[in-house]
Amino acid sequence: MRVSVSPHPLFFIIDYNNSKAKGEAMDKVYLERYESLGYARYICTSCYHCISKMGVSYCSINMRGCCSYFPKFELIDIHRMVKSAEGLQVLKRIIDNPGTVVYNYYIHAKGYFDKDGYEEYLKNAPEEDDIRDKTIFFRACPFVKSGYGCTLPPVYRNYVCNFFICDEVINNVDDEEVKNQYIRERSRFVRWAEWENMSLESILAEHHLNLRDDFEGSIKLLQEIPLDIFEFPQLKELNVINIGEKDA
Ligand code: SF4
Ligand code: SF4
Repeated sequence: MRVSVSPHPLFFIIDYNNSKAKGEAMDKVYLERYESLGYARYICTSCYHCISKMGVSYCSINMRGCCSYFPKFELIDIHRMVKSAEGLQVLKRIIDNPGTVVYNYYIHAKGYFDKDGYEEYLKNAPEEDDIRDKTIFFRACPFVKSGYGCTLPPVYRNYVCNFFICDEVINNVDDEEVKNQYIRERSRFVRWAEWENMSLESILAEHHLNLRDDFEGSIKLLQEIPLDIFEFPQLKELNVINIGEKDA
């Protein structure tokens, strides 16, 4: 049976150390492609100095942007990882994370959650707020480093991580038509990725394999399956304008 993995509402990238962002007057959103792997990410330089509500952290891990998310690595992500020694190392890091749970056809890497801090906060939390799930203020992905950002190479992050851009940014760009292209291409990739995940799952199932019961056997089979390449079109760079200040 296929374990259904819905796309997470978050689709973000964060890499504070990318010096491209530093010193630029106007923030940008642009596409970075990894053509040999048929993968890509949206880079948003606003993330280096995130002032979004989603980026607020009341836990011990500061400046983590919206990396409060606990990532799921689906077969399509694992497939990319098993094709290189570097990818296999990343997969080992994910498996070795103490909060990681291996399911039949995906891996969920759970991270830090300050439960006590969250329960204390709820006692006086503001009633009117556009963030429904306030646990995000008290959570952090296991792979985010305080004040640094993601420690996983971008090609091995999942598509949620690589394509999310918060509303505060995406609703404040200078070209509606190009913005819609970004949204369309993201949706096209997600549909393709879901199809790929189903295909990989069917192949594993045909061989009576799944990650939970036979991890090594599943990895070996995935290594034998050629990567399908998704082609991203070139997308014009967007300028980010008018993001309001807020208390963080
Ligand atoms: S996508 Fe938005 S919330 Fe996430 S790090 Fe970037 S600016 Fe912050
Ligand atoms: S894997 Fe990286 S980009 Fe994704 S949530 Fe974790 S730290 Fe952020």
